[in-house]
Amino acid sequence: MDVLTHAIEAYSSLDNNPFARCYAAKAAELVFKSLYDSYVDGHDLNAKASMQIASCMAGIAFNSAGLGITHSLAHAIGAQWHLPHGLANAIVLPYVIEFNGQDPYTASVYGRLMSAMGLLNISGNAPQMLRKSVETLKSELNIPATLREQGIEERDYLGAADAIVSKALKDTCTATNPISPTREQMRMVLDTVYYGLKKN
Ligand SMILES: [Zn+2]
Repeated sequence: MDVLTHAIEAYSSLDNNPFARCYAAKAAELVFKSLYDSYVDGHDLNAKASMQIASCMAGIAFNSAGLGITHSLAHAIGAQWHLPHGLANAIVLPYVIEFNGQDPYTASVYGRLMSAMGLLNISGNAPQMLRKSVETLKSELNIPATLREQGIEERDYLGAADAIVSKALKDTCTATNPISPTREQMRMVLDTVYYGLKKN
């Protein structure tokens, strides 16, 4: 899921470029094709090889294009509750797609990524389709949808939220997020990461 986050964030980053997008789109496509198979059958070497290639390609992409606030929040959340990096990114990613997708240009970028991956955009709402594709993959991999589902107590969340927002705003990955979030917006995204979206 970290690989998928690298691919989606590099593709939509402010420092994106054709070179990075090419690698990012292929990496995301390979994750959607192979991560589930790799997860359910540890002996499926074709799926494992595909994920290894996807990981390298997404790494090349973000090395040149940078990342976004999924990583900024995941860094702070992972440190706060000792969650592995991939798990923290997987929990955060759909909510950042929802937030960044409110920007019309970023929504069109998500649409281009979906076409490049060969995912049909049936509804015409690219951010929603991309978010739902990530949510489906998450549930297939038995990853909790929210921090609350992960088992973080609400009082622990409320006690730590301000500090997480401060760290995320200062994180180097925030500079290349397609939208530069205010403190209030970062808190709003974090609240959805904890509680989930009110409407789906
Ligand atoms: Zn990462």
